[in-house]
Amino acid sequence: MTIVTVNYFYSQNQQQRAWLNINHQALINNVKALKAFLNPETHLMAVIKADAYGHGAVKVAKTLLNSGVDSLAIATLSEGIALREAGITASIMILGAINTADEVKDIVKYNLEPTLCTPSQALIFAQTLHSLNATLPVHLKLDTGMSRLGTHWYHAVDFVKYIQQFPPLHLSSIYSHLATADDVNTSMMELQHSRFQEAISALKTNGINIPILHLANSAGTLSHPQLHYDMVRVGLALYGISPAPHLKDKVNLQPVLEVKARITQIKTLPPHTGVSYSHTFKCDRPIKMAVVGIGYADGIPRLLSNKMKVIIQGKFADQIGNITMDQIMLNVTDFPDLEVGEIVTLLGKEKNLEITADDWANTIGTISWEILCSFKHRLPRVNIFL
Ligand SMILES: *Cc1c(COP(=O)(O)O)cnc(C)c1O
Repeated sequence: MTIVTVNYFYSQNQQQRAWLNINHQALINNVKALKAFLNPETHLMAVIKADAYGHGAVKVAKTLLNSGVDSLAIATLSEGIALREAGITASIMILGAINTADEVKDIVKYNLEPTLCTPSQALIFAQTLHSLNATLPVHLKLDTGMSRLGTHWYHAVDFVKYIQQFPPLHLSSIYSHLATADDVNTSMMELQHSRFQEAISALKTNGINIPILHLANSAGTLSHPQLHYDMVRVGLALYGISPAPHLKDKVNLQPVLEVKARITQIKTLPPHTGVSYSHTFKCDRPIKMAVVGIGYADGIPRLLSNKMKVIIQGKFADQIGNITMDQIMLNVTDFPDLEVGEIVTLLGKEKNLEITADDWANTIGTISWEILCSFKHRLPRVNIFL
């Protein structure tokens, strides 16, 4: 294992307290597995918004583009600018809504591709592009049931005709987003699919040349090939996490991110000793306790207090007491040979044991997407290329 780059926030000779391992080989394997699952003509757009779901967008983008991803999507203008400034030249679509002329100017300057959700946005783009004597590829968003961004699917023809009157706007794709693709019950997804189809038929009937069509996120991609159209927009699955338990076996995915931290102190507690703020844990017998240098300020959800395990020396250990801002405590009574500096796995795999973002999400009633993108920049991302 070679550690190629470390994002140091501190001097190199300081021992790392806690960090994220980003396994680029896992990322490559996931791209390959997804591409093998897709029809060869289907484009794979990698969704790397929110700093590539916390994995570090620039390095992740480079690996993805080198391993067969066709284009990138981000949520905000500044995320796109950061990628361009890092030298990434691939096509980058902005998923979020853009509403001001100043933003349009930056989109042109940085060669990004906006989503148009409404005619009024289209007008702002058309006027600003006209004044700059520029053109832009644009992606039109239809709302087929997500009830978030986009124009209702039944207004697709009017929306496209409106856009087509402006020569600077080059309609590059039409898309929609699925609201319930991770649900075992596929009825709402099928309804969205049929509404998307309805919009496409109406466009065809009106003689409108259909550009690239896309609908599927990770869950849609894994659910049904009919949802793939010309391109899929995959986020979560690239990072090696299945969007739903029933979709787990469709493609062999490998988690990309691991959370590691070191033991900073070990001590014995006498019986009936309370641990951490509010003493939510009290030992009924003497225990050996370890302190680990990672906390909720690093992105470990405080709701996991007394409910999470870690892996040390290939064995599970219980976390005890409330998770604090910078530290957590473990019951390490069953680990006779532990020393300060020992590395603990919070998320990741050791031997045959594994703790996933899904495990945390299920414990606290959230989703793995939120777990991944909550790791803070205080944790250096250690990029590992096997
Ligand atoms: C975030 C996002 C995706 C990717 O979703 P995953 O579930 O992570 O695959 C795709 N499309 C849109 C519009 C998104 O906002």
